[in-house]
Amino acid sequence: MSTLAIHDLQARVPGRDILRGIDLTVSSGEVHAVMGPNGSGKSTLSHVLMGRPGYEVTGGSVTLDGQDLLALPTWERAQAGLFLSMQYPIEVPGVSLLDALEAAFAASEGRAASEVRELISVEAGRLGVEPRFLSRPLNVDLSGGERKRNETLQLAVVRPRIAVLDEIDSGLDVDALRTISRRIEAATAEDNLGVLAITHYSRLLHELRPDVVHVLSGGRIVATGGPELAAELEVTGYALYGGAADDTPTVIDSGGEAADPFADPLA
Ligand code: ADP
Ligand code: MG
Repeated sequence: MSTLAIHDLQARVPGRDILRGIDLTVSSGEVHAVMGPNGSGKSTLSHVLMGRPGYEVTGGSVTLDGQDLLALPTWERAQAGLFLSMQYPIEVPGVSLLDALEAAFAASEGRAASEVRELISVEAGRLGVEPRFLSRPLNVDLSGGERKRNETLQLAVVRPRIAVLDEIDSGLDVDALRTISRRIEAATAEDNLGVLAITHYSRLLHELRPDVVHVLSGGRIVATGGPELAAELEVTGYALYGGAADDTPTVIDSGGEAADPFADPLA
């Protein structure tokens, strides 16, 4: 049983406060959704949890099973069991998915490097990732949807304790969305994975059914409820929560690519 505990987390970039006191607790086997209008701080939350440079944490704490994550470099947060699927997965020329996963295995305790190829091939079959993608440079020349399948493959092979999924649905067609959601759900049941699923759009939550839904607006959690909260947002949009009146979570993401893999081109 693992718990990611976020208490009063505050973070800023130079000249601008973004996270203004986030409280969230995600435990093994649970699926929490974080929904919110564009620019509300969803990706910032994911970056700060994983330790992206460029943000200053000005208050609060983040622990995984009591261990202070904010004191650790990103790779040690990953070793501790935290996984991030980025909104815009980075292109890594010269490094294949196989290379990346073999390195991840080599760096993790209790996983035999000899298992990794077999596991990757099983998971690639399960997720419909074509074998030729495994040895190609990571994410280079891939569509948004192919990148998201890759991310899910990494999640399935690495088997983290807690996964933060930032807009894992963007760029996916309905069938791929279902395949990926089923795989993530299986991880919650089989491996007791805890999930923090960040999404602007409620369509993900028809497939990846959340136990708890949080609304993030202006850098704060302004509402928390059950799945009915996502259903309500589909009707009302985010207007009640500080979003634009026409900012409804049912809109399908057109996807987007950015030079900075962490950047949100919509912001
Ligand atoms: P979301 O993912 O909810 O759309 P983000 O976390 O990407 O929102 O961004 C929240 C706000 O913080 C946006 O207004 C964005 O422009 C701003 N922001 C995020 N990162 C930076 C940065 N590195 N420098 C300046 N502003 C940033
Ligand atoms: Mg974002």
